[in-house]
Amino acid sequence: MIKLENVEKKYSDGYVALKNINLECKEGEITVLIGPSGCGKSTTMKLINRLIHPTKGKVYINGKDISEVNPVELRRKIGYVIQHIGLFPHMTIAENVAVVPNLLNWEKEKTDRRINELMKLVGLDPQTYRNRYPKELSGGQQQRIGVIRAMAAEPPVILMDEAFSALDPISREQLQDELVELQKNIKKTIVFVTHYMDEALKIADKIVLMKDGEIVQEGSPEEILRHPANDFVKSFIGEKRLNLIQDIPTAAEVMKKKPVTTYPTRGLAESIKMMERRQVDSLIVVNQDNQLQGYISIYDVIRHFRDETKRVGDILERFSHTVGPDALLTEVTRMIDENKLAYVPVVNEEEKLLGIVTRGSLVGFLSDIYPSGDSGVVQQ
Ligand code: ADP
Ligand code: MG
Repeated sequence: MIKLENVEKKYSDGYVALKNINLECKEGEITVLIGPSGCGKSTTMKLINRLIHPTKGKVYINGKDISEVNPVELRRKIGYVIQHIGLFPHMTIAENVAVVPNLLNWEKEKTDRRINELMKLVGLDPQTYRNRYPKELSGGQQQRIGVIRAMAAEPPVILMDEAFSALDPISREQLQDELVELQKNIKKTIVFVTHYMDEALKIADKIVLMKDGEIVQEGSPEEILRHPANDFVKSFIGEKRLNLIQDIPTAAEVMKKKPVTTYPTRGLAESIKMMERRQVDSLIVVNQDNQLQGYISIYDVIRHFRDETKRVGDILERFSHTVGPDALLTEVTRMIDENKLAYVPVVNEEEKLLGIVTRGSLVGFLSDIYPSGDSGVVQQ
């Protein structure tokens, strides 16, 4: 939908801010440009907006070379949101949102309806806020107005340059959520500039990583995370996140550390009580040195219960499978699956019990890395 072809931008002082950029932003998608300060993100946005002109190459929107489109015409079809909001201070909120609809000579009723609809969409009650002035709103509220003002006349293209960067982290997250939700319905072509990787991962269909006026890598968040092209991309993703995704965790990282254990010398009635109290249906048996001996299940205990001479050591069964602490999660998962195990004990070289990997601990571990929902916050 938006296409930059061999675009170079040399500013009048001779500085080359963009070097031969080729970029495509698909219709209905959010393309996120990310990179360090000065890499050329805003320059790219201004080129799409025809606020500046490329020194080489061409910019197309819907297949049309924009240098041949009347710039005023063009900008009516493009919503533009910038970091420092830029609401008109002497206009009310409603008047601010109505700027482009008024330029397009929309009927007052249609404009009013649209204002109310958009304000509700971003959680601002029109009755309360319509006639206020920008300075009577919080930063987050003003930014929301900036966003809906850009959307008011339903432009097919929306450019958002660090639109959420000036906000506190909570408002920023809220607006990201709202944008993702909104986009599900409006399906605009959005180009979003940020220098926060979290923001990019959360909202992007495509991430474009830029450095020194060039594109270093582009791809879906999934592709970028799994196959960072080089150290620059890796550093941008962040060491910690990368480790979690690229290094397969080990049994030691995933295991439950304090499984319920008992000793061979214990009685069966005692064992039942313990299972009941700890809400488990088997106990792991270790000796005084914490070396793994086996397990007893509730079924075995019940079967032998009448025989008062029996102790745990008499009825325990050996584990068919154990793993070391460094076993990879993939290996452990396969073992659990193939052998239909409820869990696998993790033991060290001296056969001492370190923990167990259960299906539950796998799920818990994965949900820490890949939190549910889009918030990026680990669900409690
Ligand atoms: P970003 O938005 O990625 O931080 P910009 O696109 O604003 O970066 O700027 C890219 C580079 O071009 C920067 O080094 C900046 O200093 C330079 N630059 C931006 N505008 C001008 C200008 N009008 N004249 C000269 N250099 C400029
Ligand atoms: Mg910028």
